[in-house]
Amino acid sequence: MKILVINAGSSSLKYQLIDMENEQLMAKGLCERIGIDGHLKHTPLVDGKPVFNEDVPMPTHSEAIAAVIDKLTSAEYGVVSSMKEIDAVGHRVVHGGEKFASSVLINDEVLAAIEECIPFAPLHNPANITGINACRAVMGDVPMVAVFDTAFHQTMPSKAYMYAIPFDYYKNDGIRRYGFHGTSHRYVSARCAELMGKPIEELKIISCHMGNGSSLAAVCKGKVLDTSMGFTPLVGLPMGTRCGDLDAGIIQFLMSKYGYSIDEMLNILNKKSGVLGVSGVSSDFRDLDAAAAEGNERAQLALDMFNYWVAKVAGSYAAAMNGVDAIIFTAGVGENGADTRAAICEYFGYLGVKLNAEANAKRGQDIMISTEDSPVKVFVIPTNEELVIARDTRDIVC
Ligand code: ADP
Repeated sequence: MKILVINAGSSSLKYQLIDMENEQLMAKGLCERIGIDGHLKHTPLVDGKPVFNEDVPMPTHSEAIAAVIDKLTSAEYGVVSSMKEIDAVGHRVVHGGEKFASSVLINDEVLAAIEECIPFAPLHNPANITGINACRAVMGDVPMVAVFDTAFHQTMPSKAYMYAIPFDYYKNDGIRRYGFHGTSHRYVSARCAELMGKPIEELKIISCHMGNGSSLAAVCKGKVLDTSMGFTPLVGLPMGTRCGDLDAGIIQFLMSKYGYSIDEMLNILNKKSGVLGVSGVSSDFRDLDAAAAEGNERAQLALDMFNYWVAKVAGSYAAAMNGVDAIIFTAGVGENGADTRAAICEYFGYLGVKLNAEANAKRGQDIMISTEDSPVKVFVIPTNEELVIARDTRDIVC
């Protein structure tokens, strides 16, 4: 069975074709500048076929999907002989609100429900819907599945997801913590249990997804107890460009002092804050590491704040779960930032965490980076959201 995984953004579309017989990646690619001019980078990963990396006109997502199918099935760049070989499509959908606690076969009713969640994710859900509609237009009645970033977090208890504001805002408007990166937290926590050789139902895990956007999740006995992103992905840890937790009074103060509109204010908090805002250097942790090594104090401060926040939130989750068996690092910074991991683990001395420096220096594999006798095990597990989407799609379609 071959499954196409689609992650559609407003002007971009990432895809992977996965052979579920052996979970092998057959091809991957990225359409960019959809609606502007259009560019496709298509990378076949079987039979030594060449990479296609050229401009292709893409006035809408439908032309983008058509170009992807064309390349996947072409004699020169293709990995399948015809579209009929693609058995199903799995779509990443950012927000499923309270309607979706798991992945679901897409039909008109499901599409309408995803549309109803647009107010919660006004930038992402419309793009995801556009991707689904484009696939339906080009691929006809191939079964399609929606996999939601929010779904895994739907197990949170109300004491964790409620905000302490008048209850009617929850009841009438759905204002609550939803959390994001759920597919990633789900993948790495399940993989962690596998690596530990224990059922996930017996484990208390803290999953640290640290990329451009970052969130932590407390995964207690297989269910999310709490997570650091909230109603939107703006809160929790300081991120590449997002501010993380912030006193709401600051918004009122800055808006009245500088006359910002709410859109200008949110743009500052989403795009100009985080480690970029503090350092004035970059949102990329590699740049911050380099600047800090050259003595840039604000770059060092931004890194220190990030590490402190990860440790502080993880500590609160250890308390909330009344213990922790494993801590996982994943995503761009979590998988690659050995110094960042080591600095964060320094804070975990009270848990008895002992880092294995040699393992921590390795890259690109599932690996335990704590010592065997560390009472809390620490892992680096490269995330694989596309594989989760493909597996859910297979399980629902079969
Ligand atoms: P996204 O949230 O966009 O999916 P990723 O998970 O790919 O992001 O993470 C991207 C971030 O990973 C980059 O901004 C960079 O800060 C960080 N990163 C990548 N490689 C390294 C590295 N070698 N050392 C430290 N950080 C890294």
